[in-house]
Amino acid sequence: MEGALIARDKVGIQDFVLLDPHTSESAFMDNLRKRYQEDLIYTYIGTLLVSVNPYKELDIYTEKQMKLYRGVNFFELPPHVYAIADNAYRVMCAECNNQFILISGESGAGKTEASKKILQYFAVTCPTTEQLQIVRDRLLLSNPVLEAFGNAKTLRNDNSSRFGKYMDIQFDFKGCAVGGHILSYLIEKSRVVHQNCGERNFHVFYQLLEGGDEELLKSLGLERNPRKYMYLIQGKCAKVSSVNDRNDWRIVCKAFTIIDFTEKDLENLYGIIASVLHLGNIRFEEDSNGHSIIRNGTQIKWISKLLGVHLSLLQEALTNRKIEARSEEVLTPLNTDLAGCARDAMAKAIYGRTFTWLVNKINTSLANKVGSHSRTYLGITDVFTKNLFCINYCNEKLQQLLIEMTLKAEQEEYEQEGIEWEPVPYFNNKIICELVEQKHKGIISILDEECLRPGEATDLSFLEKLEEKVGDHAHFLTRKLADQKTRKSIDWVDFRLLHYAGEVTYCAVGFLEKNNDLLYRNLKEVLCNSKNNIIRECFLSVELDNRRRPETVATQFKNSLTSLIEILMSKEPSYVRCVKPNEDKEPGKFNELLIRHQVKYLGLMEHLRVRRAGFAYRRKYEMFLQRYKSLCPETWPQWHGPAAEGVERLIKYIGYRPEDYKLGRTKIFIRFPRTLFATEDAFES
Ligand code: ATP
Ligand code: MG
Repeated sequence: MEGALIARDKVGIQDFVLLDPHTSESAFMDNLRKRYQEDLIYTYIGTLLVSVNPYKELDIYTEKQMKLYRGVNFFELPPHVYAIADNAYRVMCAECNNQFILISGESGAGKTEASKKILQYFAVTCPTTEQLQIVRDRLLLSNPVLEAFGNAKTLRNDNSSRFGKYMDIQFDFKGCAVGGHILSYLIEKSRVVHQNCGERNFHVFYQLLEGGDEELLKSLGLERNPRKYMYLIQGKCAKVSSVNDRNDWRIVCKAFTIIDFTEKDLENLYGIIASVLHLGNIRFEEDSNGHSIIRNGTQIKWISKLLGVHLSLLQEALTNRKIEARSEEVLTPLNTDLAGCARDAMAKAIYGRTFTWLVNKINTSLANKVGSHSRTYLGITDVFTKNLFCINYCNEKLQQLLIEMTLKAEQEEYEQEGIEWEPVPYFNNKIICELVEQKHKGIISILDEECLRPGEATDLSFLEKLEEKVGDHAHFLTRKLADQKTRKSIDWVDFRLLHYAGEVTYCAVGFLEKNNDLLYRNLKEVLCNSKNNIIRECFLSVELDNRRRPETVATQFKNSLTSLIEILMSKEPSYVRCVKPNEDKEPGKFNELLIRHQVKYLGLMEHLRVRRAGFAYRRKYEMFLQRYKSLCPETWPQWHGPAAEGVERLIKYIGYRPEDYKLGRTKIFIRFPRTLFATEDAFES
């Protein structure tokens, strides 16, 4: 394994920093492809890990492999997600600081798998005690529960995470995991009531129907066939070949017991899942006045029973809207369309809040109860992005963070080593972030303002406001500008933004509607009085006194992204960038165009440029000397003086030119990869 020290693998180069400094995107792609074809899915850019989804099981995740990476210097073994995990862990223990590993990439690129591999790595390699086994088990088993409730089959990924997740593991001074905490954000509630063709609702519904025993289903009033439920049939694919719902249900049930759910919790939880399914089957018809009435009483009776809510009040709340006028409450009947919306809003609200409850429940069970003092935290975050607009905004923010932190780290290292810092020019995308998020003037604020004018605002008026307020912004392309530039006619409900990775067109249709997150007041009242403990905890009556409008979806997203970035800024980062090789979920297929696009918007080339603006390679004197000492008679077989001096003699002997390197306090810095490769060739011959 020693040969790996300088990062040349059996195929290609295992650190992009060591490619020719004038590396074009093509050379970058070549290296990635060559490696991928040999199942070498991991490559570094310095300390950032690029991972290409293999879409097949590789035998690189065994316990033996984990042990191999444990405590070994980062560059001594081929790139691996375990090396990232191990490095973060070791730095955390040695320097007593908090760490985080940020995993990003598009849907299906392998983020969740990477985060699970990291967690497993810690579970196997961190020291533990008998008392702490339970923490380990709970950390591991929180995943299947969250995945059951928060993941779904989409067109892009059979197990797509539909929520954002940030998980902290707490370690004590011995490096044992003593607790954990999960932060979840923005579960995709709309999926509960609507799925596109070829997609499913959240896994848990199918798992319960397929895996729950007869008696349980009977007590919930459910039939086993998912096709009986409106909320499950829209995507027309209740069964997915790569997903085993029955088996997964068994694992989830086991996890429930380990995580300490009581019988009562489970009864309430199952009641909620079943109620959502019953809600979906409620149909409305019009009476002679055009008011909606519920067609069949069976479902609503089940819901009233399972959620412990008043039957007639629920019925009333689903078909009427309560409006307060001059301290008087007036009931306005809904037509069938609006009643359908109220029903869907209720299903989304109870599912969404139950998900939050579930995360809190898991957190209670993960809380450090051993009394052992947690000293440091290691966070793992698997970025989730709901739609194109949010994905691109999130990428913009992460790019900003990455560049800032990489430059900062580089600069700090140079300072520590006493080497002069040469400023690196880079594209600062702050201007684009501001276009999206700035208070009062940004796109999200404009969207929110329009949402405050229900009935008046339309997608078109939103577009007009955009043009009026940000039309002059250099990164907002109005229709006119876009037209001139591309000479293509674009739809008049589109707008374009110039992101750091290129132009993107957004269709404004539905922006307003998707941004609203409302639940009628009378439905809330009914739920606040529920006898189902989970529902009661989720709908607190104080909310009824609060007259403020709830936050819009875009604002919630902006706020959670901002707080995530704040957490990340306070910790030391490691990065995993996941790349999806093809749209067909197939092994061995390297779709050049698709990957090139991701390389661009993941900012990999820009990162590479910044990362090696100064020096492509740096190593501690001791390690450099250890490897190459045989090249110089003065250092071979053993150098007895200080390592720095030995290295100086060595490189002088083999003929490094002064412009090729710099000597820092503890490390040698080599400017160009070719210098190092020449040394390596001499070493091997
Ligand atoms: P989303 O944003 O939709 O949640 P994701 O980036 O989390 O996507 P994953 O669910 O991690 O994507 O990966 C998608 C699928 O790709 C997995 O279900 C698995 O089949 C395959 N996969 C990903 N990473 C690996 C890996 N390292 N080894 C083998 N298969 C993998
Ligand atoms: Mg995922």
